[in-house]
Amino acid sequence: MQKIKKQFAFIGTFIFLIIFFASSSSADWNQTSTEVNASYEVISEDMTVHVSKVITFKNNDANTRYWRGYYSTFNYYLPDDAKNICAYDNDRDLNFHKLDRMDHYYVLKFNTKVWYEESYTFTIEYDIDIHKNCANFCVNEHGNETQVTIIIPDEYETFMDRNDYSMETISDAVVYTFDHGLVWSNTCRVDAVKNTDIHVLKGTANLKEKNVDITVNYWDGEEEWANDILNTAIETLPVLEDLSGLSYPMDYNITITEATITETSGYGGSNNGKNGIILLHTEGRAILVHELSHYWTRACNFENIWMDEGYADLYTYLVLNQTHPDEAYSRKELFFDQYETLKPIHDFPLSNWTVPESFEDGNALETSYGYKKSFVLMYNLYEDAGLEAIQKTNLEFSNSNDGIDIDEYVKSMESATDKSLNKEWELVMPV
Ligand SMILES: [Zn+2]
Repeated sequence: MQKIKKQFAFIGTFIFLIIFFASSSSADWNQTSTEVNASYEVISEDMTVHVSKVITFKNNDANTRYWRGYYSTFNYYLPDDAKNICAYDNDRDLNFHKLDRMDHYYVLKFNTKVWYEESYTFTIEYDIDIHKNCANFCVNEHGNETQVTIIIPDEYETFMDRNDYSMETISDAVVYTFDHGLVWSNTCRVDAVKNTDIHVLKGTANLKEKNVDITVNYWDGEEEWANDILNTAIETLPVLEDLSGLSYPMDYNITITEATITETSGYGGSNNGKNGIILLHTEGRAILVHELSHYWTRACNFENIWMDEGYADLYTYLVLNQTHPDEAYSRKELFFDQYETLKPIHDFPLSNWTVPESFEDGNALETSYGYKKSFVLMYNLYEDAGLEAIQKTNLEFSNSNDGIDIDEYVKSMESATDKSLNKEWELVMPV
């Protein structure tokens, strides 16, 4: 045994050396680089973001020295919603086409051969559609040789995923500059919203015991969003009654108000009881269903956040599974994946979980993990105990005069089903 181990150790070292050598040599010998100056300008009156990128491609690839080769094409990512795409150098347009089998990648053909130690500069321009009063778009850049400038009229309220920019106001616009040297690896979302008049859309959901009026407050230019929201609410509420086993439990009508990310404190939305639901303008169906579900979770007098949020996301899954099965499936898969990914670093027993006032960088992963773990628990409970047990206990909880704590919850759920639910409770209790 000992001998075999030694042999493996030797082979291991040998392979390691080869890999190390190969990678260090390729860094010296096989290099091209790209410098980008990108500008994203929100043009309100055209309802577009105009994107312009001056790209300098440098050939330092020693494999092409001594006239053995050259570069003449360039593959580049452009977002799905890019339109009016054009590319040109100082003299003329560049030809380009979409790369086969690779969505969003384009092949641009240089107007010259770029030999060893030469460089070539060209420009790509395109537009991204935005709404009348809100501009929501992504900045997708790579590496650390990129300067990004984002220009937004000053009447907009602007939020971005990253804040390592410098800011300057020029006439009627604010210019955000991300200097060369910063690293670009993740997409940076930009969300800019202009103050507008509020419009109102009304509808009615015909529920078991009453008709509930639904009012959607929305911004000028967001009619389509408002219609989707109203229709989703009307479609969702009867399904929630069926799934939970409880008629709409509140004695008030429902108001849903379109909101900025400051108003939602970084969350996708929030259910403020009688004062209605506020919903982030970039969110839609899934978050709305989640917030509507809270009318039922609140009626059940839960004392713990994981019960409240876990049920809201379980109902969201079950509602979507009836109305939009593909979305239900992909959201469920995403939640399970994120749970597994975050677990090694961010795990905690759900009995300790609290939700911060606002969702921000410092608490984002832990908060997100709490939601995912609560969902995983409730989904497993739904599979093991069944919907009937959930409906039976809902009735019991909603009739209770005081809060439902963990002991009471566990006791009721176990008596509602014959199965052992210890696997679920392991997620709740401290080890
Ligand atoms: Zn919630």
